[in-house]
Amino acid sequence: MNDVKKMYIDGEWVVSASGQTRDTINPATGRVLATVTEGTAADVDRAVAAARQAFDEGPWGTTPAGARAALLFKLADLVEANGEELGALETSDNGKPLRETAYDVADTAACLRYYAGLITKPTGQTYEVADPMQAMVVREPVGVCGLIVPWNYPLLMATWKIAPALAAGNSIVFKPSELTPLTAIRLFELIEEAGFPKGVANLVLGAGPVVGARIAEHMDIDKIAFTGGTKTGRAIMTAATGNLKKISLELGGKSPCVVFEDADLETAVDWALFAIFANQGQVCSAGSRLLLQASIHDQFVERLVERAKQIRVAPGDSEGVEMGAMISEAHMEKVLSYIKIGKAEGATLKCGGHRLTENGLGEGFFIAPTIFADTTPDMRIVQEEIFGPVLAVQKFTDEADAIALANHTIYGLAGGVFTNDGARALRFIKKLRAGITWINAYHPTYNEAPWGGYKQSGIGRDLGTFGLDGYTEVKQININLAPGPVGWFEA
Ligand code: NAD
Repeated sequence: MNDVKKMYIDGEWVVSASGQTRDTINPATGRVLATVTEGTAADVDRAVAAARQAFDEGPWGTTPAGARAALLFKLADLVEANGEELGALETSDNGKPLRETAYDVADTAACLRYYAGLITKPTGQTYEVADPMQAMVVREPVGVCGLIVPWNYPLLMATWKIAPALAAGNSIVFKPSELTPLTAIRLFELIEEAGFPKGVANLVLGAGPVVGARIAEHMDIDKIAFTGGTKTGRAIMTAATGNLKKISLELGGKSPCVVFEDADLETAVDWALFAIFANQGQVCSAGSRLLLQASIHDQFVERLVERAKQIRVAPGDSEGVEMGAMISEAHMEKVLSYIKIGKAEGATLKCGGHRLTENGLGEGFFIAPTIFADTTPDMRIVQEEIFGPVLAVQKFTDEADAIALANHTIYGLAGGVFTNDGARALRFIKKLRAGITWINAYHPTYNEAPWGGYKQSGIGRDLGTFGLDGYTEVKQININLAPGPVGWFEA
């Protein structure tokens, strides 16, 4: 059992109570990368007890914001110092190109520093109320937070939750995706090295329906913060009702990238490719629907297809790679099945549409960049989140048509618009029912700005001050400055 990777519970590296293990696969080669312990509900219970103790009775509750910030700054330094290793580990576990994991690691350190800085800044409010009372509001940590994240940005999604949760003074029970546990394990080694008190940060590993579900239903967890699919989010919301946990959900999307005829064509083509094919299309906010004004449609699609065909698909650690492997064989099959659905629905396949197997790619799980045109708004490839390198192109006539099509899904995560008409850009964005938007750009994310969706794309926000708010309770304190009887009852 020595080379089995362990969980971190109450300051100790432990194997699961069940003794079970799980192999994690390198999706570029199909080969086993590591074996990790497979947690169970009993392991979650141990972790929650440790987190509860650390929050209710341990030193964490009396650790001032400045000291918490110092630990987070130290963790950021450690992430940076081990950045190359973390990046390589993420690429081998997830399949994405090294240039993307380098970005993820840099952003991880930046996110830790952002919340370390933010937590020491002024907060709270005071109110002038009737004499002799004084009213004020303070923010306090929620308590024990259960944090569950997906596999598409393992390290970054972990940090978007861990950084604000710990900065605000909560203790945590964190679960990575069972498909990509390795950078989380390394991150918790760095958390230990940074010197966080035992029990404050706990790592549990294992299957969603077992370990994740136990976190969601646990009566001693005060808040659950989840990033993942909309279906899972719904299950978590239901499971969390037992003790009415605070919840925040970052869910799926089917986001529109919209191009008007006055936009610069080469610029918009370039961003549209980035919008859908970055991270192999496995991005919640991916521009997976491209809405083109009819007058530029054919010319735009022609240029887009020409460029999509040139994207270099290869293992994430190879020279010059632009798109890596899909996360798993099962997910690759799911994406391929959507390609079949698109063809059966009558959309025109303009490029890609198949698995890549030449030059050794057949050992891993690679899909060619795929573009469908001639879609109709109700096709499944237009409505459902495919979460892969598959783009559905839609055609619109005017601004009203564009906005109607853009909003015509159950999701509302993100969207971008390309036009040289500033007033139209803002008019369009104001009508778009989505939480993350861009004008003449697509994808840039900032730790300072809130991240989250409208409609079935989620509840609450990660990042920014909004993200921190989600890990706090608000308390009003009313102080009598001239203590004496209230005198309401005469006798
Ligand atoms: P998923 O919902 O299958 O899994 C996400 C996490 O939930 C994993 O850790 C998994 O083990 C766990 N889980 C699964 N079933 C569970 C259950 N019943 N109870 C508790 N936990 C459970 O999602 P995925 O396939 O890992 O990730 C892809 C999805 O994540 C996409 O839909 C994508 O849009 C979404 N996502 C959203 C954002 C965002 O910020 N909105 C960011 C990244 C990914």
